Amino acid sequence: MTTASQKKGRPPLEITEVRVSPAGSKEDKLKAFCSVTFDQCFVVRDIRVIEGSKGLFIAMPSRKLTVRCPGCNFKNVVRSNYCNQCGGSIDRYLSEQVEQGRSKLHADVAHPILTEFREEIQDHVLDAYENFLDESEEYEPVGIKEEKSSFIREAEPEFADRGKPAPRGPLEDIQHEEKTEAEFLGKDNSEEEEEALPPPEDNFSTGIF
Ligand SMILES: [Zn+2]
Repeated sequence: MTTASQKKGRPPLEITEVRVSPAGSKEDKLKAFCSVTFDQCFVVRDIRVIEGSKGLFIAMPSRKLTVRCPGCNFKNVVRSNYCNQCGGSIDRYLSEQVEQGRSKLHADVAHPILTEFREEIQDHVLDAYENFLDESEEYEPVGIKEEKSSFIREAEPEFADRGKPAPRGPLEDIQHEEKTEAEFLGKDNSEEEEEALPPPEDNFSTGIF
């Protein structure tokens, strides 16, 4: 396959892995979260697959813009009239300073600069999502393990390298990923970086079932 970047004569940044975690119910417009690995060395998480009126598209990871309460310094979503922590009023002027003329309440965390590379990412992600759907429909849970590992193509090092008390089945993997992504959503209005998340093993050991 010739990628868009190769056509441009630019050294290609290769998408080497796409992981899919389903999100929401069938009615939701948000269909999945994906992590995309570039050149086997850089991962962008929290890329969303969304169903729009013209079909599926991807949205790059973003964070909500926040404004600090002048009274208690708590971070509130921009355009809040009152602080969610102390109830004090927040002057709209403070939000306008944060927004700086941006029309959206979200700011991209990472995004492609070139349109053709955006399309390349989108093609890979949507392919992976459709493969994921096919495999989910085609196989009973007992059969998922082999198919899922071939889909992922590589064992996740953090699972393979660290001593685990018991091997985890494929269903647990899926639920584990959902939980992790849910926490991504939960921290959406925070500016904390990913280091603030507990390690995945902790998520798992807190008990999902
Ligand atoms: Zn406050």
